[in-house]
Amino acid sequence: MNVQTHPRRPLTESAARRDAAHFINGEFVYKSASGKGYDNICPFDGSRIGFVPEAGREEVDAAVQAARAALEGPWGQMSVVERTRLLAEVAAEINRRFDDFLEAECLDTGKPMSLAAHIDIPRGAANFTMFTDVAKTIATETFPMPTPDGAGALNYGLRRPRGVIAVISPWNLPLLLMTWKVGPGLALGNTVVVKPSESTPLTATLLGEVMNKVGVPKGVYNVVHGFGGNSAGQFLTEHKGVNGVTFTGSTKSGEQIMLAAAHGIRPVSLELGGKNPGIVFADCDMDKAIEGTMRSVFANCGQVCLGTERVYVQRPVFDEFVARLKAGAEGLKLGRPEDPATGMGPLIHEVHRKKVLSYYAKAVEGGATVVTGGGVPEMPAELAGGSWVQPTIWTGLPDDHAVVTEEIFGPCCHIRPFDTEEEVIHLANNTPYGLAAAVWTENLSRAHRVAAKLEVGICWINSWFLRDLRTAFGGAKASGIGREGGVHSLEFYTEITNVCVKL
Ligand code: NAD
Repeated sequence: MNVQTHPRRPLTESAARRDAAHFINGEFVYKSASGKGYDNICPFDGSRIGFVPEAGREEVDAAVQAARAALEGPWGQMSVVERTRLLAEVAAEINRRFDDFLEAECLDTGKPMSLAAHIDIPRGAANFTMFTDVAKTIATETFPMPTPDGAGALNYGLRRPRGVIAVISPWNLPLLLMTWKVGPGLALGNTVVVKPSESTPLTATLLGEVMNKVGVPKGVYNVVHGFGGNSAGQFLTEHKGVNGVTFTGSTKSGEQIMLAAAHGIRPVSLELGGKNPGIVFADCDMDKAIEGTMRSVFANCGQVCLGTERVYVQRPVFDEFVARLKAGAEGLKLGRPEDPATGMGPLIHEVHRKKVLSYYAKAVEGGATVVTGGGVPEMPAELAGGSWVQPTIWTGLPDDHAVVTEEIFGPCCHIRPFDTEEEVIHLANNTPYGLAAAVWTENLSRAHRVAAKLEVGICWINSWFLRDLRTAFGGAKASGIGREGGVHSLEFYTEITNVCVKL
């Protein structure tokens, strides 16, 4: 990993400020046939980064056809050893071009470079090597069976690639979440058509250069840009040549994607929204709980699907916890991505800022105590055009208030006291969502007991966002369908054929 500590060149002068392009059959396409497209706007200062072409059905169809041809051609015939060797090269080339990826990601998202340099880009590269062992060591079941004639039969499972996979990804961790799907997809022999978020087109485009450089055959990795409904996203999920759709994004879009995939009975893997609880018991290590909750609420300006928006604190330590989280929030420095002192960047864009600020207003209308924040910070003139909001903490809202029940996806949380373990388990589970939870306690038995009762896909004890990529990742209830990660990715990215041989 090439995490550099030297001063970085200012993003105002970055070579990453350029037009995005579709990447279809190994070629960069800067203009769609329709001529449609839009400007990519930088979230920290409102400046124009470049032009993004919007794909119509024509570009989507060309990308799906290229993916199909690659599947039936060189990629489909390549040995798993050669395939995974190429993917290791992809990871190495991302690391060689670390700064290019870092600048592109920070221009698109506005997030601090210190964060992207430690999470987004290294993980984006690691996603290509992580699944190579899984691909090389796929094990399947074998069942010898008796038959009336006494000769018997032998059953065994064969896994083969699912085919052309549509990958639809969000803007909060663009490279990381996109490669989280492209990595296993390609390692297991599929080809992909990626539709990155309309707000973050750059790193998906850059990855096309990497694919060409290391010699991944044309058509294996394709990218089409554009929006969701009635645009590239919908055209891709509806395309009959797509064999499966893997999606990370909001629950609302997930429902639409599932409907589109129902035509033709295509499988989906859905990683959706959440309203994740943090549970702080009085027997916790308070320093760890504060440090972890600071990250789970405010990291990436609160735009992390796994982030905490509901914090439940046991009554004896409630006041101390609220005071210390307040101090932490007020100590966060908002600033430019390049500044190593920056602790929090802006929201992704103006539309999202309006949404987050509407919840800030609803909290006040609902009678919340605003512990800190609640508005728009004053920023220096050069950043005034960015989508900034204050880190915000509330207390005192009823459990059924929209701020406590709906995903806001901003740097904010509501903190509520509780008394008993049973009470807090009920509060934590009282939501349509079920993505993640973080539990803070030094009592070992309590930790295991509570984890087993929480209706979530991922439960952290005394940590948050600590990820072993071999483990199952995904959400319960309205937070998703299916699990990805390690061998769990086999379920979506491969199709199993049972071979029954009569002896
Ligand atoms: P979004 O649902 O608005 O968009 C995600 C992607 O889907 C974008 O590329 C968008 O263009 C596309 N899209 C939207 N509607 C579509 C449609 N009808 N057909 C095809 N494509 C469509 O989500 P967002 O605002 O980009 O991201 C934030 C959301 O993502 C939050 O709800 C967050 O919780 C969720 N998220 C979940 C995870 C997870 O792993 N569970 C991870 C990150 C983000």
